[in-house]
Amino acid sequence: MKIITDIRCAEYSAPGHPECSRRILATLESLKSQKTLALAWGEPLPVADDSLLRAHSPQHLQRLDLPEDFDADTPAHPQIAAHARRAAGGALQALQSARAGEMSFSLMRPPGHHATRDRAMGFCYLNSVAIAALEARAAGFQRVAVFDFDVHHGNGTEEILLDQPGFALFSIHQFPCYPGTGRADRGANCFNFPVPPRTPRPEYRAILEKALARLKKYRPDLVAVSAGFDAFRNDPLADGTLEAEDFHWLGESMREMAVPCFSVLEGGYSDELPQLFLAYLSGLAG
Ligand SMILES: [Zn+2]
Repeated sequence: MKIITDIRCAEYSAPGHPECSRRILATLESLKSQKTLALAWGEPLPVADDSLLRAHSPQHLQRLDLPEDFDADTPAHPQIAAHARRAAGGALQALQSARAGEMSFSLMRPPGHHATRDRAMGFCYLNSVAIAALEARAAGFQRVAVFDFDVHHGNGTEEILLDQPGFALFSIHQFPCYPGTGRADRGANCFNFPVPPRTPRPEYRAILEKALARLKKYRPDLVAVSAGFDAFRNDPLADGTLEAEDFHWLGESMREMAVPCFSVLEGGYSDELPQLFLAYLSGLAG
């Protein structure tokens, strides 16, 4: 199991913002103090513009350098373009590890799945998972699946991959909730599994199972996971009902797919994020 991270991703913050440095720092601390999982460590790859431009417009890359907030949730932190590039580079390194047959997780911020081709939004600036999925196709994978279990709809990933041959998106998320999309399937390849707020846990789990069955039916040769831990019952940003053991089960389910697989961190804003992360990793590791 390889963890890809770069401590510089904890160097920016906005007061009171839920997407904070402590998410990474506390998770790293718990990873370093645990003894059960054997972990290898890696760093983000440098990212060429060509890789970013598969997912984003040139105008968007230019906009990231301007010191103007994107919206109330998505500030123009100093050096945010460099931070977002490193997060994308983490996903690319995770992809490289997956190609080498290793399970991998890019533990970086900012997250990415809300970033669209032209727009930063919802704490996201560059869509790391879509950038890595597009890179994977360019590297020869034929059927690339993105599985997104963050409690929010992966609207940016959907917009970028919609009807692109060789890709499928499976997103399980609370609806209605931010960003307001994801009520139904879109196009030929974007499968949405909306979950009403405060859905009892067994029913939430049943919807996840349905999404996993759909993912298997697609027969992917690579699975990229948008791993958000904000469907946890104590998360302050949504009304999910999942427990740590559900994230463990999600990790196990990914391992049982027995195809190359990598994960990138999306959301997860409760103080329990480190335990949820470890639960998922231990499921992935088996
Ligand atoms: Zn989220």
